[in-house]
Amino acid sequence: MSHVFPRHTKSALPTIARGEGVYLYDRDGRQYFDGSGGAAVSCLGHGDADVIAAIKHQLDEIAYAHTSFFTSDPAEQLADKLISHAPAGINRVYFVSGGSEAMEAALKLARQYFVETGQPQRRHVIARKQSYHGNTLGALATGGNAWRRAPFAPLMVETTHISACFEYRGKTAEETTLEYGLRVANELETEIQRLGEDKVFAFVAEPVVGATAGAVPAVQGYFKRIREICDQYGVLLILDEVMCGMGRTGTLFASEQEGITPDIVAVAKGLGAGYQPIGAMLCSAKIYEAIEFGSGFFQHGHTYVGHPTACAASLAVLTKLTDGGLVERCAEMGGKLQDALQHAFGQHPNIGDIRGRGLFRGIEIVEDRETKRPFDPARAIHKALKKETFAAGLACYPMGGTVDGQNGDHILLAPPFIMEDHHIDEVVTKLGIAIDKVL
Ligand code: PMP
Repeated sequence: MSHVFPRHTKSALPTIARGEGVYLYDRDGRQYFDGSGGAAVSCLGHGDADVIAAIKHQLDEIAYAHTSFFTSDPAEQLADKLISHAPAGINRVYFVSGGSEAMEAALKLARQYFVETGQPQRRHVIARKQSYHGNTLGALATGGNAWRRAPFAPLMVETTHISACFEYRGKTAEETTLEYGLRVANELETEIQRLGEDKVFAFVAEPVVGATAGAVPAVQGYFKRIREICDQYGVLLILDEVMCGMGRTGTLFASEQEGITPDIVAVAKGLGAGYQPIGAMLCSAKIYEAIEFGSGFFQHGHTYVGHPTACAASLAVLTKLTDGGLVERCAEMGGKLQDALQHAFGQHPNIGDIRGRGLFRGIEIVEDRETKRPFDPARAIHKALKKETFAAGLACYPMGGTVDGQNGDHILLAPPFIMEDHHIDEVVTKLGIAIDKVL
């Protein structure tokens, strides 16, 4: 009997023994291609000697020191490097231990900014349906998945949700892609006006939606319009790049491809590549200075903020992503993966859409390709796909459709950036075996 809580499945899980490059091995010696890097985490694959050396070195120096007493070289160097690659205007970093913490810090910083600048009436957040921002209470409140929110709804900060920008599901036949993007972006303005023009402190969105919808980028022009609306009403734009950031979509920050700068951006997952738990919240000088020259203190903090060992690991990861050319490699391999998936499954009667950016790809499963009707969620197609892909030696991330039919079952692929051409064939073959069995 296992005493580990929680158990994610009723059946016993294999025990992980080791990892090497793009492969995971369980204790019985079975090999799995790491098709989703866990939850889009392991961008460098497993056993990276440089990252391991950086961690060992840091452990020999000093594993941990509290940030109220000391800063550390790894934290300072990592911050410098992140800022040197961040969108223009972003110039401060706050290191935490994961994605939810980064989003929680983002929300609190945005709220404190308005308290410090004399607008405490701004207490409402607007977010989007079909989104996930984490499981702590603030982050959970902003997430747009009704099932995840339901039990905790009475505990939540004031959040309302506008439509996602999800072309496959949302665009009507009568409108162009551009018109569609503007229509759903303009929902933000309508919602701000409905709530009161000076009541909203932040709008929260994932530039490329991850787990809830399966690698869905917004259409061109959408985020430009969102930025305009936020500026017009003085609302802070918080981008959640926890899953899609750190090179995953082919640029270090996903928002680079939208041509906009957020006020605050959250990253995690690929930032530590799984070697250490780490996340970060980055913000603009405007926000930082309001607090620095106001109360002088961001009213937040955790024991492991700026953890030196986590920062040392992350610095080694970021060096490989940027100086080592892995972000560009991700963009290149991502294009090849998309082509291969399209070639293999593009005409399949139950595959509705294959999408994404970089090595962040989603495959949406439908019962009827013509009408885009999803399978009945009760059939739990995603669970069968998870079982069969795993049996075929591919660990990937199938997710269920929503009960309201907003989206169907989908498979999320987020393999390591070090993957090679022959691995693309392997992924497609193994996926094909599972798809043939289940669909
Ligand atoms: N935001 C997004 C977009 C995510 O995908 C996730 C994790 N799946 C989170 C936030 C929360 O991150 P964590 O699980 O590290 O707390």
